[in-house]
Amino acid sequence: MTEQIRVLCAFGVPDDMARRLSEAIGPVTVLKSDDEAEIIREIQDKHVFVVRSKPKVTPNIIENAPVLKVVSRPGVGTDNIDKEACKKKGVLVMNTPEASASSVAELTVGLALSLLRYIYTTCALLKNGDWAKSKYTGRTIDGKVWGVLGFGGIGRKVADIVKVMNAQVVAYDPYIPDEEFTKRDVKRALRLEDLLAMSDILSLHVVINDETRGMISENAIRQMKKGSYIINTSRGKVIDQKALFAALESGHLAGAALDVFETEPPTDNLFLCQKNLICTPHIGGSTEEAFINATDIMIRKLRDLLRPGEGGPIGD
Ligand code: NAD
Repeated sequence: MTEQIRVLCAFGVPDDMARRLSEAIGPVTVLKSDDEAEIIREIQDKHVFVVRSKPKVTPNIIENAPVLKVVSRPGVGTDNIDKEACKKKGVLVMNTPEASASSVAELTVGLALSLLRYIYTTCALLKNGDWAKSKYTGRTIDGKVWGVLGFGGIGRKVADIVKVMNAQVVAYDPYIPDEEFTKRDVKRALRLEDLLAMSDILSLHVVINDETRGMISENAIRQMKKGSYIINTSRGKVIDQKALFAALESGHLAGAALDVFETEPPTDNLFLCQKNLICTPHIGGSTEEAFINATDIMIRKLRDLLRPGEGGPIGD
């Protein structure tokens, strides 16, 4: 493609990202709202549309974008983009899931530490004047079996971190070749049941699809060790939330940490009552580094696609 590439950025795309796109790809227009009529007006001569989790990229927008080649989402979720309409029109949908892998993995381990050592609980008590030094005896990650469900980008990073903490890592993922497990000295569980039965701490890193939705069901939780922990930073619907709360209530599970929920923000009052549950508002990928990585990766992918052979540095 030798003609000038013009980029349309969604309302709210940060100035720095727009600046870097204009330096690396071509002239940038930033929308002033998520209004569909404005988007259609502005997209007429644009080759690239950079979006956030908003706006909704509807079939109407795609059909009215005569020269559009790519819809790019610097981040993970592309639920707001009508992929069917893009496919029909030959418009590529790009995202950058790899940009936040370290951030999500670190939060996963951080949540486990907070849970096992009561960091959040004792901090809240102390701020309330309660020096709860002898009330809370924690547990270590050292020496525990850490189960990884989903051995993709994030699952592998978690494995790398907790191995250094002397956990024994077991992972279940039927779609990953044996080499990935042996390379990392991670034990492969051949069945989900085996992973559930072995893990002291189970962290979830699967993508959401028909197979994984509700995978951690009431029955699956029953198969987990008594006194074990669950950390979910993947997608809320992987766990049956009601079954999880019941297992926390009964003491079958010692604790759980959730960054993601069936409905976001969560509306289920049950979760507020759980004292052995800690939670964060879907912040797994929210780090400065993930944001910079996402911009770098997006620009690299756009350049490879639209300006092949024009390599060179992409950082500041
Ligand atoms: P990935 O695609 O690299 O890895 C997902 C893995 O799940 C793959 O290896 C796949 O083979 C495996 N898998 C699929 N079906 C499975 C099944 N039935 N049983 C076992 N394994 C199965 O994805 P990733 O980048 O590692 O992301 C993992 C999860 O984290 C995703 O759900 C993603 O949406 C989520 N995520 C959350 C945040 C956050 O802010 N909390 C940020 C980024 C990603």
